[in-house]
Amino acid sequence: MTSTTYQPETGRRFHISTYGCQMNLADSSTIAQSLLTRGYVRAEREEDADIIILNTCSVREKAEDRIYGRLGEIYRFKKERPDLQVAVVGCMAQRLGDELIRQVPHVDFVLGTDRQFELPDVLEGREGTDRVMTAFGHEDMDAIEPIKETPFSGFVTIARGCNNYCTYCIVPFVRGKERSHSPDYIVAAVRDMVAEGVVEVNLLGQNVNSYHSGDTDFADLLLRVARETGIARIRYMTSHPKDCSKKLIHAMRDEPKILPHIHLPIQCGSDRVLRKMGRFYSVAHYLRVVDYIKEQLPNVALSTDIIVGFPTETEAEFEMTLDAVRRVRYDTAFMFRYSVRPGTLSAREFEDDIPEAEKIRRLTKLIQVQQQISYECNQAEIGRVHRCLVEGTSKRSQDIIRVRTETNKTVLIANGSPTIGTIVPVQVSSADAFTLHGELVV
Ligand code: SF4
Repeated sequence: MTSTTYQPETGRRFHISTYGCQMNLADSSTIAQSLLTRGYVRAEREEDADIIILNTCSVREKAEDRIYGRLGEIYRFKKERPDLQVAVVGCMAQRLGDELIRQVPHVDFVLGTDRQFELPDVLEGREGTDRVMTAFGHEDMDAIEPIKETPFSGFVTIARGCNNYCTYCIVPFVRGKERSHSPDYIVAAVRDMVAEGVVEVNLLGQNVNSYHSGDTDFADLLLRVARETGIARIRYMTSHPKDCSKKLIHAMRDEPKILPHIHLPIQCGSDRVLRKMGRFYSVAHYLRVVDYIKEQLPNVALSTDIIVGFPTETEAEFEMTLDAVRRVRYDTAFMFRYSVRPGTLSAREFEDDIPEAEKIRRLTKLIQVQQQISYECNQAEIGRVHRCLVEGTSKRSQDIIRVRTETNKTVLIANGSPTIGTIVPVQVSSADAFTLHGELVV
């Protein structure tokens, strides 16, 4: 792109759609923030936008198929308004780069996970920018603004990228090597949020509990955030079992602001398959960690990620996954069929030999088992009183208030309308596998 003197085209309207994980949500907010500070205006609908931005996910084939579908729909707008600009950012942009422009010529810009925050410069044709930018190493970590998700809650990305290279996972290829924000940056970011009324912060990272900056590890960081910022509630995700230390569990036990919910992906219940996945822990080790967590944090809620149908997984090994799920009794779980991700080790070296129908049969069976456990865990909540953050009204009715427990469960209450953003005591009165119902304790 040739260099020109540029004028920020203030007032141009942008619309950003986000796909995938909370990291993408946080990144989209950061991109939106950088456009707003440059005088761009947020459009509520794509139809009204001069710039359409898709922040994409690449974790499964389905996620990318959805983006191709969206880009097909956007082509209609572009035909009607040729000046419309389309930018694709995030993990799919990082994975495909120039290839995406070849496949979808009406896309104007493709910015990878390290370059997406330069979108305002790209739109204005600033020196050194280009139509496709996917190189790593350009990102000024501490320049990335942390973002408020709502007036009372926010995300702070504490680390980006991942060094684990699990054989099925595209993340290290699209998010790069692990790099952490400095503890001072994170403490300052949370303190700023508290000054703006935030009561709950979510610390994000692909592998959040391997956080390290100088002498500060994740447990140290959590305690600093709890004791130096005035924040009321701290959540974090996503953890890796190999980095779930006793020190971290003790920090959660001793500091009540660190909420008792851990998302701890097990992925599979067979050691042979875990080795093939490159997960660096055994089922026995994982269960020892879980037992210690439950011993030290009796009210903890556990959630996990599970993949079924990984190459060569036998029926007996699938049964081992079901056994592990019955043994741990997760409150919730995210469950997936194995999906080949081009560029990963498993795509290069392992044949995708489990038939799709068999993957679906295993996934259906797993969901059945987990839903029954979630139902039983939620039944056990009846009568308990939780300190809940008032998040808003339920999707179904303005008269129903949606609150979130310390253990990251949604409770719907019908008696009273506590102020949004406050923390209130709620007693659970009934439950199904997905939602709790309760009353405000007055
Ligand atoms: S820990 Fe494994 S699954 Fe998680 S982001 Fe890193 S490579 Fe992917």
